[in-house]
This record gives sequence, structure tokens and C-alpha cells, in this order.
Amino acid sequence: MLGYVRKNISEVEYHTWFAPVKNLGVQEGSLVLGVRNSFAQEWFRKHYLELLEDALRSLGAQNPQVSFQVLPAAQDTLFSPADPSPAPGRPPPSTPGGPSAQDQAENRKRLNPKYTFENFVVGPNNNLAHAAAMGVAESPGKAYNPLFIYGDVGLGKTHLMHAVGHYMSERFPEKRIEYVSTESFTNDLINAIRDDKMTQFRNRYRSVDLLLVDDIQFLAGKERTQEEFFHTFNALYENHKQIILSSDRPPKDIQTLEGRLRSRFEWGLITDIQSPEYETRVAILKMNAEHNRIDIPQDVLELIARQVTKNIRELEGALMRVVAFSSLNNVPFSRAVAAKALSNIFAPQEVKVEMMDVLRQVASHFNMPPDVIRGSGRVREVVVPRQVAQYLIRELTDHSLPEIGQFFGRDHSTVMHAISKVTEQLGKDQEVTASVELLRRKMQGLDDEDL
Ligand code: ADP
Ligand code: MG
Repeated sequence: MLGYVRKNISEVEYHTWFAPVKNLGVQEGSLVLGVRNSFAQEWFRKHYLELLEDALRSLGAQNPQVSFQVLPAAQDTLFSPADPSPAPGRPPPSTPGGPSAQDQAENRKRLNPKYTFENFVVGPNNNLAHAAAMGVAESPGKAYNPLFIYGDVGLGKTHLMHAVGHYMSERFPEKRIEYVSTESFTNDLINAIRDDKMTQFRNRYRSVDLLLVDDIQFLAGKERTQEEFFHTFNALYENHKQIILSSDRPPKDIQTLEGRLRSRFEWGLITDIQSPEYETRVAILKMNAEHNRIDIPQDVLELIARQVTKNIRELEGALMRVVAFSSLNNVPFSRAVAAKALSNIFAPQEVKVEMMDVLRQVASHFNMPPDVIRGSGRVREVVVPRQVAQYLIRELTDHSLPEIGQFFGRDHSTVMHAISKVTEQLGKDQEVTASVELLRRKMQGLDDEDL
């Protein structure tokens, strides 16, 4: 079950929230999860109930129920490792329901209620995709067909697609909307072939007013699915039904995609989403904090926005981590606390270490003046610290081998030799191993003294 959860949220979120959860088994038909405090309990209810129910459903539960219990303090250690044991009592398995049943209600359920236009922050990185999505939502089948949105993971493609779905279902409740990932489209097709239910399959996908197909790049190499999708596409297109596709790359870059599909994907409008600029990232964090009624100072949000630049899902995860960290440690929000909360994940970027810092730390660790380490002495007492210093500088800074060599008055091959020497000794020589570990932690700011 945790595997399912993990696939659907970011690593940061997973470690913040799910790693410490204890599985308390099943009581009165409901899976009981132990969480650390009432804050976490509230958080799970608000943010993860649906996901957990989906996870149980993916295991075959028909009517999954999840509840949360606050663990007694003794079991509550900060960032303790997760209990890896799987659920002992699973809800009873059921036969998987065919795709046909209560479609419209089901489809709406599949749209994430959070993914609306109102909750979508528009910035220079996504304004064209946003405008295009609004356009098709206003006049489906007329503005651009298909609408093809591409961009890296975590930048809002799924959010925008769902937003169109919500918008349409509010304004035209009678319209049929189908949101499907390319993976489930493929699986549905495979099942339909196996169960001899191709007619149902075709009816399902060809009778909709709006078809949203997510991550279409996964069509690559799947010939039968491409064939089937080609016919679905044509049927909808000819009837002026709206199609929206998302992908992590433009159609021309999807390898082994049939030419006739590629050209169809290019018939309408192709628009991309880029990584958000700093200001957009701050705005997204602000909106998130407000929605969750978290009163967090602007400068803390700014620090988070500086840390996470590429992926909005990770950005949201970082905010949650900071919130969890300060709540669990019972300290108010501050930049220092935020930096601390994120240091495990973002240390290498955040803490900029200079060669001189490393040398000083190494010197004080081995209790010897920095200049002696940089000097010409060749006894072991000096050579080991020198090699450790060169190794750590290489690891913790961006300096090249020749630059490090110059800093020590040596050439780059000496530095290379030092690095391979230390690498060799790691795990074997206790003094070297312990020194490297300790110094590395210290310099990445992972020590706890300033909390
Ligand atoms: P993708 O499908 O491109 O991988 P998602 O649509 O799943 O990305 O977005 C990842 C997360 O970031 C979601 O929680 C989504 O709500 C959020 N998000 C993405 N773009 C925005 C935006 N412009 N404003 C607010 N939240 C956003
Ligand atoms: Mg997506």
C-alpha cells in the first residue's frame, strides 16, 4: 500500500508524512494508522485520506475506510524510520469493476478537486498553456483541437487538464468527461481484449465530450494502443469533441510514435509549461499556505522558493516539510528552522562550502595548523589530513582538480591520487572513515547544535 502512496506523491512528502506512520491494523473494517500528534492527524485527514483510500482500492478493497489515531508520545520519535511491514489485515478483495459503470460521477471523482483554475497560479512560465486551457474550457471542440500541453514533470500539466474538466462539468453538467492516464488507457485496452469487451471499451472512450489523456509519451512503442487511440482520436475529432493531451515532450520528440498520430497531435495547438520563475514559486507557496491556513512569514516562503526551483510538486513538499518540522519540534517558523528542515534534502546546494572552510575544519579536527597540512611534510600524521581535505573539497565544492592542486601547491595528479587513496580507505581504515563522515556532516550543516 505504501508503494502506491509513494508513487503518487513526492519523495519529500513521503518522508515527511508517511515514513513515521505506524500501521495499527484493522478495527471495525477500517484501517487504522498511527500518527504522531493531532496536527499530523488533521493533516492526514485533510490531505491524504483520498490517496489512502485509492491505495486500498488498488489492492482490491471495495469500500475502503481509513482512520487515524494519535500515537502515545513514547512511540513518537522525530523522523524515526518507517515501519516497513505491510498491512496485516487488508480489506476483503473484490473483483475489479469493469470500466463501464457509473461513469460521470466516477469521472468527476477522478478529477482532483484541488486542481482547478482558481488554484492555478499563472506566471510567465505557464501563461500560454493556461490561456489555451481556458480557451478550450470556454468553447470545447472549437478553439483548438487537440490541445497538446508538454513540459517536465511536476509543472502543472495534470493540474491544467483537471481544471478544464472541472470548469466544463460545472458549466455543462450533462457533458461527459473522461480523464485517463495513458497507462490506464493501455491497461483498459489490454483488459478489454482479454475479456472480449472491445465494444464497451470503444463506447466508453468514443462517447465523451471531453477526453483528457495524460502522459501520452507512454504511447511510445505500444503499437496496438496507438492503433486503438488513433481510432478513438478520429471518432472524437470528427464529432468536434475536445481532446487534450499532455506529455513530457513535444510530439516530434516522442520516439516510435506512428506518423499519423504525430501529425494529428500537431493539428491543434501545442503549448509548453516551463519551470516557474522565483516570483511564481513564491506565489504558489503563498497560495498553498493560505489554503492550508498556515500562517508562515513571507521571508520563510522566499527561502523555500530559493531552494526548490524545478518542480512544483517538490516545492509543495518542501513547504510541508517545513511546516511539519516546526510543528513537531514546537518551534515557530523562521528562516533558520526552514533551512534546517530542508537541509537533509538540499544541503549540497544550500550550504556553499569554500576550500578554505574545508581546510580549517580538517585542521581543527586533526588538531594541526592549516599551513602544516598545506605544507610539504610527508609523515603520515600530515599526509592523512591532507588527503582527507582534498577528498572533501572535491566532494563538497565545485572546484576542479587543478584548482584544488593549486590551493595545495601541487598538481592535479597528486589530488587525484589523494582522492583515490581516501576512497580506498573508506570502510577499511577506521580513522579515515570516521573523520570523513564527521567532517562531511559538519560542513553540510547537519549537526543539531543551532536548533
Ligand atoms: P505534472 O502533471 O506536470 O507532472 P502536476 O499537474 O501534477 O504536474 O502538478 C504538480 C503539483 O504542482 C500539483 O500539486 C499542482 O497542483 C501543483 N501546481 C503545478 N502548477 C501549479 C500552478 N501554476 N499553481 C499552483 N499549483 C501548481
Ligand atoms: Mg501529470
